[in-house]
Amino acid sequence: MKLCRKCFARSIEEKTRATVSKYQMVRFDDKIAVAVSGGKDSVSLLHVMAKIEREYPRAKLVAISVDEGIEGYTDEALEIAAENCKELGVEHFVVSFKDLYGFTFDQMVKRLRNKGDDMLTACAYCGVLRRKALNLAARKVEADRLATAHTLDDETQTILLNIFHGDVLRIAKEKPVTDEVHPKLVRRIKPFCEIPEKETALYAYVRGIKFQSRPCPYASEALRNDARVMLNRLEEKHPGIKFTIFKSIERIRPALEEVAKEEGLHECSECGEPTTDEVCRTCQMRKQLE
Ligand SMILES: [Zn+2]
Repeated sequence: MKLCRKCFARSIEEKTRATVSKYQMVRFDDKIAVAVSGGKDSVSLLHVMAKIEREYPRAKLVAISVDEGIEGYTDEALEIAAENCKELGVEHFVVSFKDLYGFTFDQMVKRLRNKGDDMLTACAYCGVLRRKALNLAARKVEADRLATAHTLDDETQTILLNIFHGDVLRIAKEKPVTDEVHPKLVRRIKPFCEIPEKETALYAYVRGIKFQSRPCPYASEALRNDARVMLNRLEEKHPGIKFTIFKSIERIRPALEEVAKEEGLHECSECGEPTTDEVCRTCQMRKQLE
């Protein structure tokens, strides 16, 4: 079936709306914070959520961006995020690594490399810090939900990565809408979790949305790349396979959650944020920087 541009864009909006309602991602009067990096997926999500939000007169939408402080990259990303927010009339909040952690990401990488620390790949490191920053920001703006632009591709890659890393119980937690596990953790929702990345990208083109196309200079998660290539090859030969993987996990998730149950959350002894460890991963990383 071929769709014209307009109908294609509408089909993405319709699919997202269906995902949001199927997983009961939002309540009618929620304040929803959308994490906007400036990349195609997140700006597309902002545009789609702005449309969905209009159908919920008592809901409110805000955008949150993280300024990691990566030279030649972050400035442009933040500018594009801000432009899209302005166009849609959505309030935009920015939190920075520098303010939260005392260093920009560039400075952190430099420090760790100078110390000869065998740090995790920069992406994984940044991911942990971003996650915490987004949660803090979402709490600050009193959001009920934090929406991230993870696509079907991201989700299936993460499933495989968790298996590759032997961290399978993590799969239980990475669900379309997280549970209320701790009052300090804003519940996260993934309205694009059933939409392939190809389609979110096409959506941005079709709707003429401006996004950052420059890749992050630290982007180098080798294993994720391998998972991406593998999944894309499989999908080409066996269309629908990504969706089948995603749905398979959805089916066995209750059993995984049963096993993962005993891993309770408490507050980090350093910063008081929720964690499963004694000291949260962000604070562990901060100690590495000292
Ligand atoms: Zn901590």
